Amino acid sequence: SKRITVVGAGLAGSEAAWQIAERGVNVTLVEMRPKVSSPAHKTDLFAELVCSNSLGGDTETTPAGILKSELRALGSLIMKVADENSVPAGKALAVDREGFAASVTDRLLSHPLIQVERREVEEVPEGPAILATGPLTSEPLARSIGELAGEESLFFYDAVAPLVLSDTIDMTIAYRKDRYSEEEGGDYINCPMNEEQYRVFHKALLEAERAPRHDFESKIKYFEGCMPVEALAERGPDTLCFGPLRPVGLEHPVTGERFFAVVQLRQDNRDGSVYNIVGFQTNLKWGEQDRVFRLIPGLENVEFVRKGVMHRNIYVNAPKVLDGHLRFRGGAEDIYLAGQISGVEGYVESVAMGMVAALNLLSSDMELPLPEWPVETAIGALLNRLSDDTVKRFQPTNVNLGIFPSLGERIKLKPERCRRVALRARDRMDDFLSDTRWKKLWSEE
Ligand code: FAD
Repeated sequence: SKRITVVGAGLAGSEAAWQIAERGVNVTLVEMRPKVSSPAHKTDLFAELVCSNSLGGDTETTPAGILKSELRALGSLIMKVADENSVPAGKALAVDREGFAASVTDRLLSHPLIQVERREVEEVPEGPAILATGPLTSEPLARSIGELAGEESLFFYDAVAPLVLSDTIDMTIAYRKDRYSEEEGGDYINCPMNEEQYRVFHKALLEAERAPRHDFESKIKYFEGCMPVEALAERGPDTLCFGPLRPVGLEHPVTGERFFAVVQLRQDNRDGSVYNIVGFQTNLKWGEQDRVFRLIPGLENVEFVRKGVMHRNIYVNAPKVLDGHLRFRGGAEDIYLAGQISGVEGYVESVAMGMVAALNLLSSDMELPLPEWPVETAIGALLNRLSDDTVKRFQPTNVNLGIFPSLGERIKLKPERCRRVALRARDRMDDFLSDTRWKKLWSEE
């Protein structure tokens, strides 16, 4: 009889395999551990949490909470087992990691329609299949996905520079100007340094404490353009001044003053409220980023929206490589990607994409139309981000208020905005679940 292959028994793959089997379809679930291990996993259990034991916020009016309640409404195995294994964590959902992973493993192993194979998959398999091999997908398979997707559409790590609120930059010190432009104004905000300020900053950067890295991450070869700012600083006292901090063409537009070094910030969101510090991808600890980056003139009181990070993370350029339904354009019609590799970030986001891939594949298999996940729901909003081809440089997305469509009116207070987004999401999810086109997905077998 018909059989669907799911590769990777992590968070996404475990959810996908369960959803398919529960609908009466045979699944082969292929997991490489323990034969081959990833650099971060430590056990042979399915759905192993590689780092924190927290699945994030769980109040219904936060973005993470909305996503969790949608998954519960859809009958998620991972959410059910997480709830059964929860440990006290305030408003977050944290789990006993051993108990959680052991229980997911037991249920999948004892499901009559799931056959588990312990081996490394080295090539994109024949469909119907779901690839859910995660941010640490083993090399041969990553290579095979890269060949089909186009090498430039498969990314191997995140190098994110810190993001700051632009209205917290001191514009009496910083100035707008583009390099070599004669005029004041322009797209870039520039923070100028004299030699003494630069030396102090350089010293602090070298001495700052770095986040602990996994062994495998220190082996990553960085492209020159994505090197951590502190690694570049180590190369020599003035290296930064020939790189991201080069002052040439950035004389002060009014006084004409030349500077020893200039830090540039570039607009990062449409309305210009957020800017990134150009070239400042970093492994500094978050607290150290506050301390060291506030030494930059003009950024003394800056507020960070997101700190810089660098870590191994294999994922595709989703808007280009996927078709909006998690189907892999480079493969046959019936290959889906799920989990972190599909372009989301986070445990629960990965679970959600496992759920979507499974239900989309099943619909197509049952000759139903592909589910139209409402964009007002957390799941639909994530999917929408994965197909937004207006994004210049695609980066994995987590669930946050910014991904939901606007409410159509300005609500200033964040808690109230969240509450309204949550109510709307719940309504739209209810509509979706009662839509008769997909009734067969929710009925028993
Ligand atoms: P995984 O859970 O990693 O599952 C993928 C599975 O596929 C694994 O079991 C792996 O062994 C298997 N596999 C890989 N290649 C093959 C192959 N070729 N053949 C067969 N099987 C294969 N998110 C958070 O929300 N909180 C955190 O604290 C957090 N910490 C992280 C720390 C690290 C070091 C990393 C890398 C990521 C972290 N993430 C975190 C991000 C992400 O949420 C998790 O990685 C999450 O586990 C992703 O789920 P997944 O199902 O996509 O992949």
